[in-house]
Amino acid sequence: MILYGKQCISDADINAVVDVLEKGNLTQGPKIREFEKAICTYTESSFAIAVNSATSALHIANLALGVGPGDRVWTSPITFVASANSVLYCGATVDFVDVDINTGNMSIVSLESKLIDAKSKGTLPKVVIPVHLAGHSCNMAEINKLAKIYGFRVIEDASHAIGGRYGDHKIGACEFSDICVFSFHPVKIITTAEGGVATTNDPELANMLMMLRSHGITKEQNSLLRPNEGDWYYEQHYLGFNYRLTDLQAALGLSQLTSIDNFTARRNTISAQYRELLKEQPLDFIEPLSDCFSARHLQIVKLHDESSRRTIFDTMRSLGIQVHVHYFPVHLQPYYLKLGFQEGDFPEAELFYKKIITLPLHPQLTTEDLNFVCSNLIELLQQ
Ligand SMILES: *Cc1c(COP(=O)(O)O)cnc(C)c1O
Repeated sequence: MILYGKQCISDADINAVVDVLEKGNLTQGPKIREFEKAICTYTESSFAIAVNSATSALHIANLALGVGPGDRVWTSPITFVASANSVLYCGATVDFVDVDINTGNMSIVSLESKLIDAKSKGTLPKVVIPVHLAGHSCNMAEINKLAKIYGFRVIEDASHAIGGRYGDHKIGACEFSDICVFSFHPVKIITTAEGGVATTNDPELANMLMMLRSHGITKEQNSLLRPNEGDWYYEQHYLGFNYRLTDLQAALGLSQLTSIDNFTARRNTISAQYRELLKEQPLDFIEPLSDCFSARHLQIVKLHDESSRRTIFDTMRSLGIQVHVHYFPVHLQPYYLKLGFQEGDFPEAELFYKKIITLPLHPQLTTEDLNFVCSNLIELLQQ
């Protein structure tokens, strides 16, 4: 099977994990801080809070920004369900902003017109969560401009995008957002098996995120509300969670991070080869903004003739090519239909979904794999 995505685990990665196993501290050891510092350095952010998944990071990011019952949060319908679910965990209301059909990313035009409408009705969002589909950054400068005008905060769901750049800044630098979230699930750019991280430049948000990932508890002397009763003493200030990453995972993440630029370079090379091999075909590529470097998490192509998608998908799968579709629009999930969303609510997202297919893309994909994928796809497109 040629997988659509796959982790790259080196001997150094294995040794890093074994080293932690042999030395003791399996969780909450020194590797967590080291990993967080390395993420800060790499992403050019001030704070990084490592957690057990990007879903957890999104949940506590919403909470840290004060999202709760009565609040509204908007995200993209073309994403993994977690971007939207994280809002519902907080008891808030989620809504979607339609995408730009050329990129699958949140449309700035749709966002602005939805904001104008919401302002007139008194239903403005507290937070907007743009999603960098396939690793291609959303237009963050424009989102930030609207955030200032309409008074909302911004969480980047950059689960696909670590290793990428928006203009001069690393994704994760939070130049135009309050918090940025990455995923380290095995299909993503680097992995900790399960895991995620939230970056921010705001010390108060960082403190809140840190407390929420571990039961809402603090041991920091200058945060204590009561007299310190001794070295055993800690205080719970909020209703937090156990969202901690283990030291084993942090050691794996630290080791993986040393290869990230090789991974994204290889992904970009393969993606360019796909564009070359498929340039005459009746399909379009989704491309990053001109001044951005994409981590190229997913190789999404948009078929001109959506009626051929199902046959192409099924035939490719039967040939051992694990094509995929990213994503079925979240608002059409049965759970979300029950919340009142309907077909037709976000027409660009629905049309985008019908046309897309994800081709295999990961650093270990060989030229032979690539040629096999492309020759079969071309044959199917000509039927
Ligand atoms: C993978 C992913 C998530 C969730 O990541 P986990 O680490 O598995 O919780 C959230 N949003 C997007 C866009 C994703 O692709």
